[in-house]
Amino acid sequence: MTLPFTLLITPLAADAPDDGSWFAGTFTEVDASEPALRVSELSTQRGDGVFETLAVVNGHAQEVQPHLARLARSAEICDLPAPNLAQWSAAVSTAVQAIPDHGELAIKLVLSRGVENGPSPTAWLHASAARDFGPVRQSGVRVVTLDRGYDRGVAERAPWLLLGAKTLSYAVNMAALREAHRRGADDTIFVSSDGYVMEGPTSSVIIRHGDMFSTPAPSGAILHGTTQTSLFEYLERHGHAVSYRDISVEELRNADAAWLVSSVRLAVAITELDGAQVPVDAPLTQLFTEYLLSPRD
Ligand code: PLP
Repeated sequence: MTLPFTLLITPLAADAPDDGSWFAGTFTEVDASEPALRVSELSTQRGDGVFETLAVVNGHAQEVQPHLARLARSAEICDLPAPNLAQWSAAVSTAVQAIPDHGELAIKLVLSRGVENGPSPTAWLHASAARDFGPVRQSGVRVVTLDRGYDRGVAERAPWLLLGAKTLSYAVNMAALREAHRRGADDTIFVSSDGYVMEGPTSSVIIRHGDMFSTPAPSGAILHGTTQTSLFEYLERHGHAVSYRDISVEELRNADAAWLVSSVRLAVAITELDGAQVPVDAPLTQLFTEYLLSPRD
């Protein structure tokens, strides 16, 4: 029951069967404070790899299969070998057995292209305590819009930009967050150069007009968020209308409520957009938080 908890994973071919021993032998627990990766590792040299971050709440790993499906999709976009999802599932289960069964934790899964000219990809899992997002779930976030520098159709025109993959190259996303902080905000929403809402650097956007909840259509230019998908299923089950569509910045500005949603921070209300107040739906934000903290598969 220790944190952090790290497993190096010898990635198996996607179609390799479970040998009946729970993939024993392909996981090696390592001390996170000790060296474990080679200097020529392409994840560190070039950010060349993909990852997922999922939440573990009171011993339950949330939405494992949707995260693994996105890992596989990211790998496909990046021409990485397809991950063996049963092996990754077993790695998550192994971690969940080893880490505390209470509180909020985060598990990061990484699949990198490996060492230069190396025989196979490198893979690992790292579990750690989640930051305390309780206060920001209460207070919400002030957001500025930032130009993403691409139009909505960029992914189809230039798939090599890998925009729909969750790659390790998050330097741009972190730079956008720093710019938001410089502008006195807590977070940002990327806007396409033709004026449409995309996503946050680490989150998806949901807006409400009346009883209609909308999120940007999952084009190849943004990530299809697992939290947003889960919330839309929840909303539909409770009789609300949801839609995936192009959302102009104007529509974002006149929303009745808006949220940034992601796996570990969960749903945070947007309280201010480019310096203008945004109405906050506190009861619904509270419901979202309760739902997102409940065990979800
Ligand atoms: N968009 C980006 C760019 C992200 O990095 C993330 C999560 O980190 C999301 C959206 C939200 O995805 P999820 O809800 O699966 O965490």
